[in-house]
Amino acid sequence: MKIKEKILQWARPEIIALKPYRSAREEFVSEGNKMILLDANENPFNNGMNRYPDPMQVKLKKRLAETKGVQAEQIYLGNGSDEVLNQLMIAFCVPGKDKAIILPPTFGMYQVCADINSIATIEVPLTKDFQLDVKAILAAQNKQTKMIFIPSPNNPTGNCFKKEEILHIVDQFNGLVVVDEAYVEFAQEQSVLPLLSSYDNLLVVQTFSKAQGLAGVRLGMCFAHPLIIDLMNKLKAPYNINVLTQDVVLKQLEEQGLIQQQVHHIKTEKERMLQEMRSISFIKKIFSSDANFFLIKVDSSAKRYQQLIERNIVVRNPSKNLNCANTLRVTVGTAEENNALISALRTIENE
Ligand code: PMP
Repeated sequence: MKIKEKILQWARPEIIALKPYRSAREEFVSEGNKMILLDANENPFNNGMNRYPDPMQVKLKKRLAETKGVQAEQIYLGNGSDEVLNQLMIAFCVPGKDKAIILPPTFGMYQVCADINSIATIEVPLTKDFQLDVKAILAAQNKQTKMIFIPSPNNPTGNCFKKEEILHIVDQFNGLVVVDEAYVEFAQEQSVLPLLSSYDNLLVVQTFSKAQGLAGVRLGMCFAHPLIIDLMNKLKAPYNINVLTQDVVLKQLEEQGLIQQQVHHIKTEKERMLQEMRSISFIKKIFSSDANFFLIKVDSSAKRYQQLIERNIVVRNPSKNLNCANTLRVTVGTAEENNALISALRTIENE
């Protein structure tokens, strides 16, 4: 089957047929021409933000393409990867009919997006040591399973999955495989992004919210085959990435030296925290982490969570997730914040 036919068989017919909104200036401004803009009913007085942003984010995508080693046509940008994930479901899953495979314990937004879009999920649990159950995942696919979501490093467990196993799934799955690499900068395992062009059904999602230090600006990226990106572009809001976000991210791309230093610092702090955790008696297990957070098993997560709240420290209690009873998920903060957590844990241990 030709690539185009293959991708179109996965997409929703309504999206294939959709005539997207186009702004009048789109093709001219994206090419960098200076035009008199009387088409979009803006206030003409320049304050740096009176004009709508570039709808296709041409300059930003060009820089991202250079940085990431992909083509600009392989990039879709959204308001955080949360939005990207939802848009993917809208583009590819027919409400009430298609299904998505998720791998609990997993990132909660996949289920939320599925619920918003009336998409049933098929849950294929991770193994007891939080690895992919490749055989079960492949056995779960059927005509309706259009997508599978694989966060690596995984949230809330913090571990990466083996690249060969992910790629085996990509190879054998007749649908889209979304590898969510929100925490990839912290991991030993390399990104699958360099393999993008080798697989038509591989989608890689990354974000500026974690290592890149820009959770507040909301920028999520989806890398995929240009035909998949074309479909995504059809359904996006016309000016979905605002001027401020585009400017700030372009600047941040010039600060990668600083980001690398911060990532190094966070990883060193994580090792120090893990070391400290080992001596706290109510911490029963520490799970290995490839991210900027880690999961611990405690005697009672509800009790320990509450005790930390009383000391003005918020961690996450992901205990409702499959095989995560009595766990807490801890983000690595600054040295000062981490010290505050460690000393709070020691205090409650002695209470
Ligand atoms: N994917 C994973 C695995 C996450 O943990 C998160 C954030 N909690 C996201 C995606 C969403 O990130 P954002 O919308 O900030 O890009």
